[in-house]
Amino acid sequence: MSRRTSTQERYNVIVVGAGFAGQSCVRTLANSDTSVLLIEQSANFHRKVCAEGMTRQDCSFISDRFMTTPFKPVTIHHNSHTAIIGKTHGAIATFDRSGFLRQGMEEIRKLKNVDVMVGACVSDIIDRSTLRLSDGRTISFDYLVGADGARSVVRQFLDLPVKNTAVAVQYTCPVTHPDFELHLRDDFESYFWIFPHRSYTKIGCGAEISVRSPQQARRDLDNFMKMHNFPIETSTLEAATLTFDYRGYAFGNIYLAGDAAGLMSGLTGKGIYAACVSGTVIARNILGDRSQDHLLRKIISKKRILDGLYGFVRNKVLRRAFFTLGMHVVRNRTLARAVMRLVN
Ligand SMILES: Cc1cc2nc3c(=O)[nH]c(=O)nc-3n(C[C@H](O)[C@H](O)[C@H](O)COP(=O)(O)OP(=O)(O)OC[C@H]3O[C@@H](n4cnc5c(N)ncnc54)[C@H](O)[C@@H]3O)c2cc1C
Repeated sequence: MSRRTSTQERYNVIVVGAGFAGQSCVRTLANSDTSVLLIEQSANFHRKVCAEGMTRQDCSFISDRFMTTPFKPVTIHHNSHTAIIGKTHGAIATFDRSGFLRQGMEEIRKLKNVDVMVGACVSDIIDRSTLRLSDGRTISFDYLVGADGARSVVRQFLDLPVKNTAVAVQYTCPVTHPDFELHLRDDFESYFWIFPHRSYTKIGCGAEISVRSPQQARRDLDNFMKMHNFPIETSTLEAATLTFDYRGYAFGNIYLAGDAAGLMSGLTGKGIYAACVSGTVIARNILGDRSQDHLLRKIISKKRILDGLYGFVRNKVLRRAFFTLGMHVVRNRTLARAVMRLVN
């Protein structure tokens, strides 16, 4: 591939978005014979509404030094029943998302074949070789990677529908909490999470917009906070939209990674690992290397199973039976291991 020109109006690869997907993509293209431009709209790219939970699979991208709570078991509550996952080795840890992404960006800025634009927003994709920034500048590319999250402009250009849209509301509460908890309720088509970090706790819930408005989701979360004695007044509330409508990741010379591709799981809300793997695989594909494609295929097939199971949670009538059965499943050691393999 050609080295970049001095005018910088054309790059071999433009990556839009410096989240997990975008950074993984750029880091995989590091020191290759490609000119790369990373465009990120926000100086606060490292901050995003997220519970910052990780499972074992995330350890291949996120090192221990970013962990804020080590791996611990998760207690699942349903009506008056409880079940524990990961009793022996733990199931979930939390990490410092902001620290991880800031560190990643520092390393990216040192790469010789990569230019970085932070504070530049891609307003539209003109055609399959040119995009426009919101200040009117145009830049050309051979390959474009849309790693620009749930409201991806690259996805819009590809004219892919986005059917599964949810809203998540979350409080960051300035108290410590000893355990990871998930709360399932028969009247709620998702779950409430309590994820402890070193000096604070993230408490949240998600719901499909077609079923529950953001205001309703917030009221539900406020009631949950009160019921569990978390102080609302001193907690910070945030909300975000999410999509999990996957329609492919490679569209000729244009790729979609992470949330832009809808790779997040609707059932679990986990998306960081899928973002990192898809960014990496796309970069390798651009370099002509298909050796890691199987990792992404595995994520997609697990996602299909999890999204299928989510159909039971969405359904008012089936939900109670699904949750009850699920509690039995996780109490059985062999079946619990299978569940861990699926969500991990
Ligand atoms: C409440 C909540 C809790 C979550 N908890 C977890 C969890 O515990 N564990 C887990 O694995 N996942 C979790 N997720 C999901 C996870 O946060 C996402 O799947 C992950 O961040 C996706 O990474 P990404 O790089 O694809 O997208 P993003 O992190 O959204 O990054 C996209 C980047 O693109 C930039 N951008 C967007 N548009 C443009 C543009 N036009 N021009 C330039 N730049 C642009 C954005 O500023 C952003 O920096 C959670 C999500 C939510 C909402």
